[in-house]
Amino acid sequence: MIKDVAVVSLGCDKNRIDTEHMLSYLNKRGYNIINDCDSAEIIIVNTCAFIRSAREEAVDTILEMAEKKKSCKCKKLLVTGCLPQKYSAELFDELPEVDAFFGVNDYDKLVDVIEADDDVRCVCTAGRDRVFAQNRIVTTPRHYAYLSVADGCDNFCTFCTIPSIRGKYRSRSMEDIIDEAKHLIENGVCEIILVAQDVTRYGIDLYGRYALVELLRKLSELDVMWLRLMYCYPELVTDELLNEIATNVKIAKYIDVPMQHYDDGILKLMNRRSDSAQLRCIAEKTKKLGIALRTTFMVGFPTETEEQFRRLCDFARSADIDNIGIFAYSTEDDTPSAKLKPRVPLKVKRQRVRTLGEIHLNNARRRGEKAVGNIVDVLYEDIDYERNMFVGRTQGNAPEIDSVVFFSADFVDVGNVYKVRITDFEDYDLIGEKV
Ligand code: SF4
Repeated sequence: MIKDVAVVSLGCDKNRIDTEHMLSYLNKRGYNIINDCDSAEIIIVNTCAFIRSAREEAVDTILEMAEKKKSCKCKKLLVTGCLPQKYSAELFDELPEVDAFFGVNDYDKLVDVIEADDDVRCVCTAGRDRVFAQNRIVTTPRHYAYLSVADGCDNFCTFCTIPSIRGKYRSRSMEDIIDEAKHLIENGVCEIILVAQDVTRYGIDLYGRYALVELLRKLSELDVMWLRLMYCYPELVTDELLNEIATNVKIAKYIDVPMQHYDDGILKLMNRRSDSAQLRCIAEKTKKLGIALRTTFMVGFPTETEEQFRRLCDFARSADIDNIGIFAYSTEDDTPSAKLKPRVPLKVKRQRVRTLGEIHLNNARRRGEKAVGNIVDVLYEDIDYERNMFVGRTQGNAPEIDSVVFFSADFVDVGNVYKVRITDFEDYDLIGEKV
């Protein structure tokens, strides 16, 4: 029997969770999970198809793994995730090296297909309720894990392919989420990061009411250090939610609210349901409540004028948002925004990414300057061997995407929180020493 399996996981943290469920299915059926694709008998590439660059990365990775099938031990190459869910018909002919494709709702069938005698090449079911594996194999460092509260999206932003790939919004039951959280905590996780395409919509499809605050209160009864909220849709960032974050000691003083833009005309064309006044209000309220705000902005959306871009820049400058992800618009052929004209030239989009990035950097440096002398709680995570310093982050920073704190100390343990005095800053990051 084939035993050694390697999985290459591409894309976002939601895709990482899918990979972790796959690993669990494989592990329970006796497969051995290894890191080295050269030694694996089965290679699985879990793909992202959100934008063109993600699809290109996915196809490049599949081709690279197909080479290993010729030269290494690999006997089966499987491709899973968003790419086959959306493009299985095209991929089927274009990538004959791939033995089977699986869509995002079919990971529970993975092992059966691997072991079946018949040559099933494509399992991509649309609209099927996903079956989650019990006790997924977490691939993040031991002290934190992502936890999916729902899948799919009903927001239909005009630039986004996700609703057509992931389907309608489907919340997981509270019991299911709490059981998974308990299991994570029992295994050493102290920070649980709640994710979904839209976390704020949690519960509406299942319970007929928005139930995120209720879920947070239930999760807070567990022995967890921080619950962190990602992907909150602005329209549903209510005072009740912000107050819960501000006052509940188990919730990190942090919220991720992808805003995408600030100009009302562009927001409307994007089919976003929040306007600039609401976005300004969220930025002001989070500041007042001491909640770090993360957002993402998209520049170069079709029809975006210099004036509209300037409005976005003015907002980013004055709102002083703690963490910002900046993306250039990517044309996705089957989305409504692809029909909008005029398109913004690539050169202009790249310039706008740089301009907005400089504004964010200047704000970050100003905040860094002000932070010098402060003592902050830092969760220790890693070592930077080049600097010869420890690396951690505060409640106000999510792993992998936000800024960090480099600090010196005599002895520290991964996953523990230490008091660190800030002595300096460098671009987005802080530098300090353990008190
Ligand atoms: S909220 Fe908008 S951008 Fe986010 S997944 Fe849904 S449709 Fe896409």
